[in-house]
Amino acid sequence: MLKFYLSINYVDFKNWEEEEGEEMSVNYRVEHIPRSTPYNRRPGTRMDASTITIHNTGNASSTASNERAWLTNSLNTNTASFHIVIDDKEAIEVIPLDEVAWHAGDGSRSSSGNRTSIGIEICESGNYGRTLQNAAQLVAEMLLERNWGTDRLRRHYDWSGKNCPRIMNTDGKWTGWKNFVDSVAAKLQQLKENNDGEAGNDDVRSGGQNPDNENGGVTMSVEDANKIIRFLSAAYMASPNREARQEFNRLANELRKASGQEPVTD
Ligand SMILES: [Zn+2]
Repeated sequence: MLKFYLSINYVDFKNWEEEEGEEMSVNYRVEHIPRSTPYNRRPGTRMDASTITIHNTGNASSTASNERAWLTNSLNTNTASFHIVIDDKEAIEVIPLDEVAWHAGDGSRSSSGNRTSIGIEICESGNYGRTLQNAAQLVAEMLLERNWGTDRLRRHYDWSGKNCPRIMNTDGKWTGWKNFVDSVAAKLQQLKENNDGEAGNDDVRSGGQNPDNENGGVTMSVEDANKIIRFLSAAYMASPNREARQEFNRLANELRKASGQEPVTD
């Protein structure tokens, strides 16, 4: 349930960014392969990831959607998978980020990349420059969410010695990889600065409500609360049940209170 919520909210986060007229947003969709997928491609083993591993697909023409489809294609006999695939149009999460996927080529011991790392496949088709921008943006947002730095990034190469992500090593010196990490670092810094600016605004809005309490009883930022409320409102719209709708209203108002906003009655 928690994962479901985070994924949905993640999509919402991107919509929010778009509304704010910011530079980037990556279309992120969740389309998990079934647990029953053959060749153990989704073993269902729990994973508490500590790094993110970057790959290229090794296929010059496949899109993210093609790569997702290949995982459940009956002709595919490989025990190989990944968590997210991204192209110039979208990112698709195909295995939950807290489950093992087979992408690092280094076996299944507990310290292996396969058991500890989120695998992201970067497509080689289409507008590759755009794809790289999308990937850097997505990775920066993932690092921010986890309070990680770029020291958490790995190449497939780091786990197994495979020349992957191959397009980041066309000169044999991994210059493309260094550029990618730099690009993620810049985007991460930008995201942090945006967040700091918003936190500052929140402080002004919530200031002085309760002189006995430094935070005015506020336990959540207005921004976070409103993101969750927008998520709830999608379920609200979908529900024909009056009781359920009242419950959504109540939850939304709890979030408004927790973030120092006035409750709304309908
Ligand atoms: Zn790889």
